[in-house]
Amino acid sequence: MTALAIRNVAVLGATGSIGGNTLDVIARHPQRFRASVLTAHRQVEALVALCVQHRPALAVIADPALEAELARRLAAAGVRCDVASGPAAIAAAAASSLCDTVVAAIVGAAGLASTLAAARAGKRLLLANKESIVMAGPLLLEAVAAGGGALIPVDSEHNALFQCLPGGRPPLQRSGVRRLILTASGGPFRGQTRAQLAHVTPAQACKHPNWVMGRKISVDSATLMNKGLEVIEAHHLFAAPAEAIEVLVHPQSLVHSLVEYVDGSVLAQLGNPDMRTAIAHALAWPERVEAGVAPLDLAACAPLAFEPPDLATFRCLALAYQALRAGGDAPAVLNAANEVAVEAFLAGALPFLSIADVVEAVLAELPGQAVVDIATLDERDRTAREAARRVLRNAC
Ligand code: NAD
Ligand code: MG
Repeated sequence: MTALAIRNVAVLGATGSIGGNTLDVIARHPQRFRASVLTAHRQVEALVALCVQHRPALAVIADPALEAELARRLAAAGVRCDVASGPAAIAAAAASSLCDTVVAAIVGAAGLASTLAAARAGKRLLLANKESIVMAGPLLLEAVAAGGGALIPVDSEHNALFQCLPGGRPPLQRSGVRRLILTASGGPFRGQTRAQLAHVTPAQACKHPNWVMGRKISVDSATLMNKGLEVIEAHHLFAAPAEAIEVLVHPQSLVHSLVEYVDGSVLAQLGNPDMRTAIAHALAWPERVEAGVAPLDLAACAPLAFEPPDLATFRCLALAYQALRAGGDAPAVLNAANEVAVEAFLAGALPFLSIADVVEAVLAELPGQAVVDIATLDERDRTAREAARRVLRNAC
C-alpha cells in the first residue's frame, strides 16, 4: 500500500470556531494533514498560540497595523515562519503553493476574496464561509470550474446533503431527487412569540442550545437567517430551485439534513452536533478519518422531534426565500443588510426583532440586479451596507 500524500491545509479564520475545530482534526492526523497557513483578523495572541502548536509556514493577520507585533511575538515564542498582513495577503496565501487545501472559515463577506482566490487557483476548497456563496454563487462556481479544484461543503447541513447525494453534487434533475430538506435546530428562541422576543439580549441570542459557534452565526441561528442563508447556499451548491428546498425544525440537531428521492426514499445523515464530523469528512473525502466525535447513541436521544418553522415569528427565513426567488444580486443585498443589522444588534444598538425590518427595508430599496462580476458585486455590497446604516439611523 502506498502512503497517502500529506495535504497542506490553509486555515483561513484559524482563531474562530470552525478554525479551532479544523485544527483539532488536523492535529489528530499529523501524517495526513499539515496546517501550512494560518490566518486571523486581529487576534495576535491567539494566532501566535496556534502557530506555536501547529508550526505553519506562513501566518497572516488581516489588520496590517498588527503585523509587526505578530512578527515580534512569533520570534519571541521561537516560531520561525513567514509573516504577512492585509486582506490581499490572505487571498494570496489561499492561492499560493503553500497549500493544496483551503478551509474558508472567515466570517461574513470578508471571506469572499480569499474563497474566490482559492477556487481560481484550483485548490480543494472546504467551504464554511457560507456568506461568500450566498453573495457570489454563480461566480464562485465558475471559479471552481475554471480552477479545476473541488468544492466540498463544511456547513453541516450541506455536508450532510453532499453525503446523501450520489457523487456529492450531481445535477438534481437527473438524480431522481424530489426535495432537499435542511434541518434547523430552531435556535435559542424556538417556540417563543414576537412579544417574548422584543427585549432579548445578545448574550441570550448567542446561547445556542446545541452548537458553540462564533457570535455572528449564533445570532443568525437565533433569527433563522442562518437557515435562510443555507437555503441559498443549497440552491447554488446543488443546483436546486427554491421550491425543492425545505426547512424542517429538528431541535436535537442530530439529523443534519435529508434528501428525498422521487421513489419515496429519504436519505439522511446523522451524527452528534459537533462540526468536527463535517470538517473531517471534507478534509479526508472521499476517504474517512477519525474526528474525535463521540459515537451517536440514538436510543439515549429518542424520540427525535420535528416541526415546521415559524416563518411569521422568524421573518428572516422568509426574507431569504424572497431574495432567492428575486434572483440576481438580491441574496448579496440580503447578506450585506443582515451583517450590518447583526453587528448593530450585537452592539446593543438594535432590537432583535428589528434585524428583519432592516433587511426587509434594504431589499425593498435595492431590487435584484444581474450579477455581472465581482467588482459590481462589491459595489452592490457597499451600497446595501450604506442603505442598512441609513435605515438604522432612521430607526433609532
Ligand atoms: P468566528 O467568529 O468564530 O471566527 C471567524 C474567524 O474569521 C476568526 O478567525 C476571525 O479572526 C476571522 N475574521 C473575522 N473577520 C475577519 C476579517 N475581516 N478578515 C479576516 N479574517 C476575519 O466564526 P465561525 O463560527 O468560526 O464561523 C466562520 C464561518 O463558518 C462563518 O461564515 C459561519 O457562517 C460558518 N459556519 C460556522 C459554523 C460553526 O459551527 N461555527 C457552522 C457552519 C458554518
Ligand atoms: Mg449550518
